Amino acid sequence: MNLILLGPPGAGKGTQATRLERQHGMVQLSTGSMLRAAVAAATPVGLQAKAVMEAGQLVPDALVEGVLSERLDQPDARQGFILDGFPRTTRQAHALDAMLDDKGLKLHAVIVLDVEEDALVERIAGRFSCGYCGEGYHDSFKPPRVPGRCDVCGHDDFRRRLDDRAETVRTRLAEYHAKTAPILPYYDARGVVVHVDGMADMDRVAAEIEAVIAHAKADAAAH
Ligand code: AMP
Repeated sequence: MNLILLGPPGAGKGTQATRLERQHGMVQLSTGSMLRAAVAAATPVGLQAKAVMEAGQLVPDALVEGVLSERLDQPDARQGFILDGFPRTTRQAHALDAMLDDKGLKLHAVIVLDVEEDALVERIAGRFSCGYCGEGYHDSFKPPRVPGRCDVCGHDDFRRRLDDRAETVRTRLAEYHAKTAPILPYYDARGVVVHVDGMADMDRVAAEIEAVIAHAKADAAAH
């Protein structure tokens, strides 16, 4: 099963994608994580992306498309994937279709997480993650059970993303409205879009996504 999780920054795409990865053995393809890794490793892609990402703007299409295309060529992408943070422009949506065609892969559903704007800023401003295992936390909604210690791996090395600062978040939201939201009609026209209420609690959102997957599986089996 191959899915796109679409929604503004802070909608819960990463959280839900991580859960799907653990529960269904699908792979989470987060272009944001791939780019952050490239920046950390100072690769040619990372060097080009760094300043743009820190400013909260979108990295040039061709650069991200190249990164994703290479990742899709890894064998594990064949066991099903969740795209988290791609596509983010109409050009990327077209490029994705071409890539999937080329690689003999199919897209089964586009799940849109709808969240109110005020909630997004609050969610992003409070989030941090374990620098060792990547587990996500939030100051108010999900603090570690033992303060200063990761619930999953016990390490004490927490990180906050530079682009999660309030002023950068506003740019990221503006980028979403200007460039990413206009993709929706493209997928709507193909009848693959399902809206999920991203304001609900994490488990409720997860249950709704499970229902979408079950439906898409039944559909795929019937065709
Ligand atoms: P994310 O982790 O999805 O919030 O992405 C973090 C940042 O990486 C974004 O603000 C962009 O600068 C960059 N980025 C991630 N995915 C894309 C994409 N599909 N197109 C352009 N820029 C992206």
